[in-house]
Amino acid sequence: MAELNLPLLDLGPQTDALWEELTSAVQEVIRGGRFIMGPNVKAFEQEMAAYLGVKHAIGLNSGTDALVIALRAAGVGPDDEVITTPFSFFATAEAISSLGARPVFVDIAPRSFCLEPEQVAVAVTERTRALLPVHLFGQAADMDPLVDLARERGLRVVEDAAQALGSEYRGRKVGALGTAGCFSFFPTKPLGGFGDGGLIATDDDEVAEQARMLRVHGAKKKYFNEAIGYNSRLDELQAAVLRVKLPHLDEWNEGRRVAAARYGAMLTEVAGVVPPREEVDGRHVYHQYTIRVLDNRRDGAKAKLAETGIGTMIYYPVPIHRLPAYAGQYGSLPVAEAAAGEVLSLPLWSEITEESQARVVEALAWALD
Ligand SMILES: *Cc1c(COP(=O)(O)O)cnc(C)c1O
Repeated sequence: MAELNLPLLDLGPQTDALWEELTSAVQEVIRGGRFIMGPNVKAFEQEMAAYLGVKHAIGLNSGTDALVIALRAAGVGPDDEVITTPFSFFATAEAISSLGARPVFVDIAPRSFCLEPEQVAVAVTERTRALLPVHLFGQAADMDPLVDLARERGLRVVEDAAQALGSEYRGRKVGALGTAGCFSFFPTKPLGGFGDGGLIATDDDEVAEQARMLRVHGAKKKYFNEAIGYNSRLDELQAAVLRVKLPHLDEWNEGRRVAAARYGAMLTEVAGVVPPREEVDGRHVYHQYTIRVLDNRRDGAKAKLAETGIGTMIYYPVPIHRLPAYAGQYGSLPVAEAAAGEVLSLPLWSEITEESQARVVEALAWALD
């Protein structure tokens, strides 16, 4: 096998295409001299609210803080239970625990890697305060049963949409389906800044007011702090960068969808792998293109692909309930545990060529031969 030198993700093409606009936006902020909560943050919040079709968008300094602040603004506190997925980035559960609440992990659906609604329904107790579904890899979790359950049981729904900006569920944008939606602008996310950033979307006036207060040290009025809050503002420089990129988001998401469809067709030729597919009536934006490699061959295949210069990643090698931070606290969740042993994310970005993809698939077939 010849060397390929193909990374998991290449953001070079999008940065190059917008180079002039990005650098002049940054220069304007520097010249303007307003670095904190300036005009770009305000405008970006309005643009994101319009894009998502929500009343309020609150810029924050990370997706993790968006989760913490949204949960807290929605009323989650010490000793509450929040039902969530064990198959996500650690921050999903960490946000719950950081408030003194307890993550209650329920198992996932094997093909979507998202929460299984029937499992959620049986996990609700007197202490349950909220549901925290994750739209993993860019695919919407099955939200209607969760929103219905929440309505019946008087629960809040906070969506972790960190990987899914622009993704849809039954014609509506994810992150706008529950009480509040949380987004991340970490550089590799569908809309990535040049550093950290995050945002909460909500239609709930009360949640929005609380979140705005919590992001600036618990003060609605400066120096009249009424709660122990955070310093969690979206940076003005990041907002300026994100404003340049937001108009291109749909086209980038579409590019990844097209590339994902090409992989899907090519992978029918490879035995022993299960490609991802759209599991709900929605619009999967393929933040990751994650296959399953069967028969305990994943780690071997990953190593062989690395030998040929193809970058792949395992999202996630250990489900959250099995991580050392939660050691000994939870029982087995077999579907999530099996997924952790089989998943492999392949190179994907909106400009990846058909030829590069064909070589990835060829190398994968060779690695599994
Ligand atoms: C990236 C991510 C987060 C955290 O976002 P940061 O901006 O890195 O803090 C939370 N949840 C999921 C599912 C993520 O992918």
